[in-house]
Amino acid sequence: MFNLRIDTLLKRQKGKCAHCDNYFKDGDSIEVDHTIPKSKGGKDSYNNWQLLHRHCHDKKTASDGSLGNKCS
Ligand SMILES: [Zn+2]
Repeated sequence: MFNLRIDTLLKRQKGKCAHCDNYFKDGDSIEVDHTIPKSKGGKDSYNNWQLLHRHCHDKKTASDGSLGNKCS
């Protein structure tokens, strides 16, 4: 599953999840998260994207007030 956006972000994050700081492994679900939720004025740009495990994304989404506004 090659995806330019994910590939670029993986290199920037050196293969680690921005939330838990563990490496993404084969079979992990990787999701693109808005660092600043779009509902709070975050932009659709590389500066505002980060990669998270799906379960980390769920935790962040639950705590940053962007529930119901998931991006992936
Ligand atoms: Zn994680």
